[in-house]
Amino acid sequence: MDPNIIIVGGGCAGMQLIYQLLQLPVEQTGTILLLERAAEPAKKSWCFWSKEPTLYEGLVSKKWSKISFASTHKQLTESIHPYQYNYINSDDFFQFHEQVLRDSNRVKRVKAEVKELISENTHVRVLTDQGEFNANLVYDSRIEFDRLPESANVLWQHFKGFFIETKEAIFDTETAMLMDFSIDQGDAVHFMYVLPFSSTQALVEFTVFSKLSAYQDAEYERYLKAYIDQKFNTSYKILRVESGRIPMTDFNFGSADDQRIRLIGSAAGAIKPTTGYAFNRIRKDTRDLVKCLDNPTLGPRTVFRKKRFRLYDKLLLMIIRDEPHQIRRVMEQLFYNNPFRRILDFLDEESSFRQEIAIFSQLPIRLFLKQVLKHVFAR
Ligand SMILES: Cc1cc2nc3c(=O)[nH]c(=O)nc-3n(C[C@H](O)[C@H](O)[C@H](O)COP(=O)(O)OP(=O)(O)OC[C@H]3O[C@@H](n4cnc5c(N)ncnc54)[C@H](O)[C@@H]3O)c2cc1C
Repeated sequence: MDPNIIIVGGGCAGMQLIYQLLQLPVEQTGTILLLERAAEPAKKSWCFWSKEPTLYEGLVSKKWSKISFASTHKQLTESIHPYQYNYINSDDFFQFHEQVLRDSNRVKRVKAEVKELISENTHVRVLTDQGEFNANLVYDSRIEFDRLPESANVLWQHFKGFFIETKEAIFDTETAMLMDFSIDQGDAVHFMYVLPFSSTQALVEFTVFSKLSAYQDAEYERYLKAYIDQKFNTSYKILRVESGRIPMTDFNFGSADDQRIRLIGSAAGAIKPTTGYAFNRIRKDTRDLVKCLDNPTLGPRTVFRKKRFRLYDKLLLMIIRDEPHQIRRVMEQLFYNNPFRRILDFLDEESSFRQEIAIFSQLPIRLFLKQVLKHVFAR
């Protein structure tokens, strides 16, 4: 039998959506079919800040109450109360949702690659390599970032990290290093990200924002080894390695193809263009989506759709693209001159316009004005 709802993609957004839909009575959702092409989910570490415990509190394996920012001149460390910086291992996230799926008699899963969605008057036809399925409503998380239109500015955040263990207890377990810009910037934007899980174990990640979508492995490792030696000056062993790339784009994503097909996750623009964070934005957007399940006009999807933040992100992306060597200065002025909580509100797109003026007044404003002019004349 055809389901009422089809979800294309059982990644971060698809799974969060299923979990939220299952909180509603069955009369409201009907049956749900999950179509996922991959046999195994991709492994990731998800970090995000939040003011209150989320639905996923039980999956948070480490929290930090303070964050640091460092650059060539100094390092600042501040409490981010009422925020906490949270870490979720994707293995725990997917195991949890596998159990949710097993416990439900409302959801069925089929391993299938979706090829095309065709919207008819009364339903959507979902064409896959395993045949055709039909549903009243489809949530779609497919997106090919390498195939966005040429007009979109697409940069990449790419990184490699070592999970290391040291003999001596050297890490401050209360503090996550969000960005350490004290390293050589090369021709791009480079910083280190350090998450201490215990006094002897930490993830040290070399992160790059650039037009290139990756460096050679040896290049990441050269930066990582030099940083660990110089910063911690102790012997260590590498427990495991993590790497990845996240698209950073000003592409104007829609939220729906039509009233029966709703885009979710990265395909709806959930990845914050200038930071790469998406987990918490997907959580908030999913909450909105579920609220407007029966609303034929698609309802109030407010998360990551505020126009002025799209403009701020666009300008910063243009600076990263055209003048990457300026980003260290922008970040220094941002973090050295604002309470970290204000910066987190701003990055969450929950700051007031007044707070944003206060933030921008501390930044190298000419740099931004130059990009505003480029943006205006490019239209
Ligand atoms: C390595 C990495 C680390 C990240 N770390 C963080 C972090 O710390 N904090 C944070 O907030 N964000 C982070 N992000 C960003 C963001 O949270 C993730 O990209 C998130 O997984 C996006 O969710 P999604 O559901 O849109 O995409 P995905 O999680 O990629 O899910 C999409 C799913 O759709 C399936 N699919 C695609 N096409 C088809 C098809 N045609 N048919 C069937 N199935 C299909 C895929 O197999 C996949 O399972 C990270 C991203 C990456 C890549």
